[in-house]
Amino acid sequence: MEEPSDNRQKKVVAVVGGGLVGALNACFFAKRGLDVEVFESREDIRQAKVVKGRSINLALSHRGRQALKHVGMEEKIVSQGIPMHARMIHSLNGKQSPIPYGKKSQVNRLPATYKLTNHSETYPNAKLNFDHKLQDWNGTKEHIQADLIVGCDGAFSAIRKQFLRRSRFNYSQTYIPHGYMELTMPPINGEFAMKPNYLHIWPRNTFMMIALPNLDKTFTCTLFMPFDEFEKITTGDQVIEFFQKCFPDSIPLIGADALREDYFRLPAQAMVSVKCSPYHIGDKCVLMGDAAHAVVPFYGQGMNAGFEDCIVFDEIMEQFNEDLAAVLAEYSRVRVPDDHAIADLAMYNYVEMRAHVNSKWFLFRKHVDNI
Ligand code: FAD
Repeated sequence: MEEPSDNRQKKVVAVVGGGLVGALNACFFAKRGLDVEVFESREDIRQAKVVKGRSINLALSHRGRQALKHVGMEEKIVSQGIPMHARMIHSLNGKQSPIPYGKKSQVNRLPATYKLTNHSETYPNAKLNFDHKLQDWNGTKEHIQADLIVGCDGAFSAIRKQFLRRSRFNYSQTYIPHGYMELTMPPINGEFAMKPNYLHIWPRNTFMMIALPNLDKTFTCTLFMPFDEFEKITTGDQVIEFFQKCFPDSIPLIGADALREDYFRLPAQAMVSVKCSPYHIGDKCVLMGDAAHAVVPFYGQGMNAGFEDCIVFDEIMEQFNEDLAAVLAEYSRVRVPDDHAIADLAMYNYVEMRAHVNSKWFLFRKHVDNI
């Protein structure tokens, strides 16, 4: 627990959404000495059972690490992850070829929300409210007074919906034709089924499967594929047929029976790119993380950009002595162009990947460089 940084008049901040960015933001605001209340619609993930197909492995890059470092959480989170030294490309014939990462690239599986939530609770001025869903900010069921509302409620943000009612708010969203599905590769005799410390990749023209190791010795495999291809597969036999054709070496590792079932456990998930501006309303409300800029995952920077939002905001708070009207305007001015650039890069990678339908796997290297 750290003491508030100075004696400025205590403001009350309501953070809506206790995901990765909300949990980190709670740490930033609490460290600054403000009274923070986090409202998260889901139950406390620390008490929840893991939901299959919704885990998402994340690559933590430099910009994300800097933000974690600022609240003393970099090492705690990185040490819980699994370092990646290289990518491992799986060819159709089962051949595996490693491609080392540059020095900076290291990928970790993050139980980060859990850790950040724990950390935010060490501040006496932070209060976490789970099973609290923001319906409307004039909601009737419970009334909260706050100096600042911070929308960290993800790609389908309820806070952002309130912005849409206002004049001169720019907004666009694009769903891409690809979806993604997560499958689990269990351990074999208590050990990883494939070499850990690698990002495993099966590049197959318009399809791609990747696998990242988890601390429990499983791998989470993520299959990226156009929705109309997902929809063509309607029976367990068709799943096996498809995997035989595209990812034959993965079948004995995932298990044919598990594949037949897991493919149908949850529908493929959509991927949306959201751009908006400005990110604030007056001195009262600001958007961060996916609520401000959901990006497609082909650049591996969504969470990292959200973490960077937190540190940039904190720096501006310092610069403008917590004068919220000035801080929020400056935050939009500085942050909108950077976040839009990341959204564009992610979409560019996706579009280019689709354009190279008939090219060989090494063309994918640049697209997966940042995953
Ligand atoms: P979220 O994680 O969506 O959290 C939002 C929270 O708000 C949730 O807990 C939700 O329950 C809560 N909430 C929603 N509505 C309400 C409401 N009305 N009231 C209260 N609470 C509410 N990023 C990377 O940096 N590296 C990667 O390698 C990477 N890989 C990815 C792979 C895939 C397949 C996908 C889909 C994304 C990937 N990303 C990656 C992006 C990353 O997952 C997101 O950018 C990140 O999760 C955003 O965090 P967030 O806290 O802004 O939003």
